[in-house]
Amino acid sequence: MDETLLMIPGPTRVAPRVLKAMSENIVNHRSAIFGEILTETNQMMSDVFQTENKSYLITGSGTAAMEAALANTISKGDRVLNIVGGKFGQRFMQITETHGGIPVELEVEWGHAVNPDDVRYILEEEEDIKAVTIVHNETSTGVANPIEEVGRVLRDFDALYVVDTVSSLGGDDVFVDGYGIDICVTGSQKCLAAPPGMAAITLNDDAWDVVDKTENHTYYLNMKKYKKSGDAVPPETPYTPAVSLMYAMQEALRVIMEEGLEERVLRHKLAAKATRNGVKALGLELFAQKEAASNTVTSIRMPEGVTDKELRGTMRERYRIELAGGQDHLKGNVFRIGHMGNITHREIISTIAALEMTMQGLGLDVETGEGVAAVADTYLEGSI
Ligand SMILES: *Cc1c(COP(=O)(O)O)cnc(C)c1O
Repeated sequence: MDETLLMIPGPTRVAPRVLKAMSENIVNHRSAIFGEILTETNQMMSDVFQTENKSYLITGSGTAAMEAALANTISKGDRVLNIVGGKFGQRFMQITETHGGIPVELEVEWGHAVNPDDVRYILEEEEDIKAVTIVHNETSTGVANPIEEVGRVLRDFDALYVVDTVSSLGGDDVFVDGYGIDICVTGSQKCLAAPPGMAAITLNDDAWDVVDKTENHTYYLNMKKYKKSGDAVPPETPYTPAVSLMYAMQEALRVIMEEGLEERVLRHKLAAKATRNGVKALGLELFAQKEAASNTVTSIRMPEGVTDKELRGTMRERYRIELAGGQDHLKGNVFRIGHMGNITHREIISTIAALEMTMQGLGLDVETGEGVAAVADTYLEGSI
């Protein structure tokens, strides 16, 4: 079994009790037993989304829920404001196009967060924007977008507010009702620390009104079917769900409830701060703008004279720690440390210590212990 420490922005390692839950035998997915599992899991999902809405689980990765959000609300020719500052913002735009929507792109420089005033400006200038898509935590750049402030802007407009919280839910503040989010989506394998393969979506009444009026052009992701099955007693899913993964989701969400959402978010914030302080102490430069830094993944500029293969290769092969590389034009120019899910000071200290040794080994000018000291100081201080 590979015991490499995964410090990537998903998938993340899952707790042994979550793995164990998956080893239970399969039950009839149209039975009272499964209905109970689904009821509890959906309820915990809504609790984590911090919403009074119902939530629905979809068998598929996070992208399935992103697609469900737009496939059920966008008709041919509808204009959608896509806020794009990285790979996942682009994905929402591509999904918009796939379903016949017309993207109005608000391009944000990679490494920066969107300015809510720019969203207001576009909504005032442009006619008939049906929906606005935003990625809360742009995993490709390590940027957290101000979804609360953008939500405040959206209150003055009719457009649906569609938010991707795949790499933030359970690791950063997400208040679906409090922020005025109409549709929120997430995935199992990031901060929720469940195995990959499940997606979740929640829609409020305004969103359902639009869904009801939208001609259906997706079969598997038809949310009307999820609603009909999900609202039955006992609840079901329209098609056979990944039963074992549902067991895992249930257990992973119980773990979150036991830890407490607030505690969990604080743990992520502290891990992010410790990581940033650790890498800065090693003379490395952060890629994301300071005020936009993500709480779940840190992007770091590749030090001068070192290749991605050398740095991440050494981390992997010598120190058994897996980091993520850059994507698209950031490939080779940045690397990323994921600190989401079940990450504590232990993993952060190990990672920064290995990074120090890696950098020394590659002939970079670093003092061993400086990064680790910065991490330790951050944890000792303990405040955000
Ligand atoms: C991981 C991720 C997704 C979904 O990716 P999948 O591979 O389909 O699970 C979507 N948005 C963001 C921000 C992500 O980090």
